[in-house]
Amino acid sequence: MHDVIAQGGLPFRATRFWFSLANEPPENCKKNENGVPVDPILAQAIPSPSEALVTSWELRDPLGESSHTIFEHAVRQYHSRVLVRATGQCFLFCRHCFRRSLLPSERSFMDSKAIKALAAYLAVHQEVREVLISGGDPLTAPDASLASLFEAVRSVPRPILIRLCTRTPVVLPQRLTSDLIALLSKMRPLQMVLHINHPKELSQEFMEKAELLLRAGIPLHSQTVLLRGINDAASVLIELFSALNRAGIHPYYLFQGDLAAGTAHFRVPLSKGLALYENLRKELSGLELPRYAVDAPGGGGKIYLPEGIAERRADLWILRAPDGSLHEYPEEG
Ligand code: SF4
Repeated sequence: MHDVIAQGGLPFRATRFWFSLANEPPENCKKNENGVPVDPILAQAIPSPSEALVTSWELRDPLGESSHTIFEHAVRQYHSRVLVRATGQCFLFCRHCFRRSLLPSERSFMDSKAIKALAAYLAVHQEVREVLISGGDPLTAPDASLASLFEAVRSVPRPILIRLCTRTPVVLPQRLTSDLIALLSKMRPLQMVLHINHPKELSQEFMEKAELLLRAGIPLHSQTVLLRGINDAASVLIELFSALNRAGIHPYYLFQGDLAAGTAHFRVPLSKGLALYENLRKELSGLELPRYAVDAPGGGGKIYLPEGIAERRADLWILRAPDGSLHEYPEEG
């Protein structure tokens, strides 16, 4: 594993396994005009000079999560759900990550005090039906730490769904040991949402672990970020979503890029994303087609596309969030 802190930004971290999925070695790889590797695997992992460019649209916390923090590590943006950002660690620091400005300051896994605070909160707030455990990537933590977090949720005397959001199964499938899969199975109802952006991420090793998770009774979903030069072609997305569906992994979301600082070079113009999605709707079955969505810049929740478009004004899109609030999203920038 590599772990080098890049100056002033998101650290560089990737696994050897991740690099083994690429068509060429990371050293001296081919790069585009923005200094981003051409290979879709390397492009998601290797820092580029373009990350230093922060546009006037971009935000440190593009989803406005900080304003919904209820206590350390816990965010409450929705009535029925609590988001737990359990750690700032990941096995791969994705260059397009929407939490890329937050992760460097949130390095360690939540401690026992924070875990107890979560259990106490859930006990009082009966309306919470689902706990999303995210990060960073929670599966970077040892099994014992994960067990204490899961057990805290299970200590609440009502059924709560645990939604585990992770990229580990594609980045480091070896982490899914039989012990970890047994722990996840024991903590059901538990479902996993996997971040997967390109068909090359569907390695044989990943597919075998996905099969084991499914056999252990853990439903799998995927979310994909639309990324310029990586997966912004209908053929790539059709291959990805149909393969996921065949493997029993439900294609859940296709996300328009968030306005995270230093990621403009990855964002696909919304007009192009809409045209792409129109193509996907023609080509993919209902089981294969994910929902196309964008998180309202600065907070306000998920907005489905194209349904959430209120109007277009030149190079500006006006989006309507589920609560009726209007949000601006630039065509480019
Ligand atoms: S694994 Fe997830 S949280 Fe970690 S850098 Fe990638 S997108 Fe961000």
